[in-house]
Amino acid sequence: MTEEKPTALLGLTLRELTDFAQEAGQPSYRGRQLFEALYRQRFQSAEQISSLPREFRRSLGERGFFPGVPIVEKKFVSSDGTVRYLICLADGQTVETVWMPEGDDGEAGDGSEAGNNVENAAGRGWNRATICVSSQVGCAVDCQFCLTALLGVKRNLTAGEIVGQVCAVLNDQDVSPPQDRVNIVFMGMGEPFLNYDNFIRAVGLLVEGVEIPESRMTVSTAGIVPRIYDLGAEPMRPKLAISLNASNDETRSRLMPINRKWNLEKLVAAARDFPLRTRERLTFEYVLLDEVNDSAQSARELGELIRGVRAKVNLIALNPGPGILFQTPADNRLLQFQKILIAAGVPTFIRRPRGRDIYAACGQLKRTSDLAAF
Ligand code: SAH
Repeated sequence: MTEEKPTALLGLTLRELTDFAQEAGQPSYRGRQLFEALYRQRFQSAEQISSLPREFRRSLGERGFFPGVPIVEKKFVSSDGTVRYLICLADGQTVETVWMPEGDDGEAGDGSEAGNNVENAAGRGWNRATICVSSQVGCAVDCQFCLTALLGVKRNLTAGEIVGQVCAVLNDQDVSPPQDRVNIVFMGMGEPFLNYDNFIRAVGLLVEGVEIPESRMTVSTAGIVPRIYDLGAEPMRPKLAISLNASNDETRSRLMPINRKWNLEKLVAAARDFPLRTRERLTFEYVLLDEVNDSAQSARELGELIRGVRAKVNLIALNPGPGILFQTPADNRLLQFQKILIAAGVPTFIRRPRGRDIYAACGQLKRTSDLAAF
């Protein structure tokens, strides 16, 4: 190993770990053992990797190599069961990761995993949990309704730090895929498509190492159009969600300045061109802001805009926060908006807020230490 290589092993692929083992004078199968120790057993320290010879473990430690699962600095538990984790990275920066256990929503008994579902339902009270991971420290996109935007962007996360969030949460919750059914959404802090290479590398490690199938992952983008095309060309990829949030350019540019670079025409064209798999649907997210983008007229305009795209719409009522100047619409406005879209032939769902009371809901991720400053 040369000195400039990172000392955290999390983030390395099976092939890289195999090379690493060989360079250390070990047989190549030690690479597979390291891979499983990092992503399946998720050990916190090299000392714990009992599948490796003591000598090798000691030399790892001596040369400063460690697994690199990040530390949970704080944990906030919501009344709805959602948990917000404040996760500390090696350089002292922090990001937030959210655990959302879900009750039975009608998917129980859908085949091979039914047995596990029953066990989960009985033992833990959830059938299927979702982990929402961050891709950057802060965010550069500057959406006017989102608290993360107030931080600005500090830096990209490495692939190891993205996967590390999942490892830390799985360890804390004592959960292990694939036996336990876990979904991943790349919808935490940051814009995954402005950290594309690390994001896509993390996807590969989550699929091959942690054993979470790509079909249980969704990445959300504020609309970085060239990367939407790149994602479509990936051999292994999550499902795609696009944060639309407005039905015309005037409103969207005001709410999401990124729209001045890639407008709705370009964005919706990329959505139309996106190569969907059998039965796959694209998701459009739409945050409803009272009297800004939630009128009946906006709903009709949105229906027109996305007509013919094989997509569904997830409506999110604005989650409020300090410094956010918009209001949350009343339920009847959400329902009216949904009704109009459904009548236009667009499957439309209202996403219930999770963990609002602990600042874990969409658009509320912002380090607690910063929140105290308000
Ligand atoms: N940067 C990516 C990934 C974050 S996903 C993206 O924008 O898609 C976070 C989702 O929460 C986005 O769909 C965003 O539009 C939505 N959101 C942001 N602020 C919100 C708020 N205050 N209330 C509700 N939803 C919000």
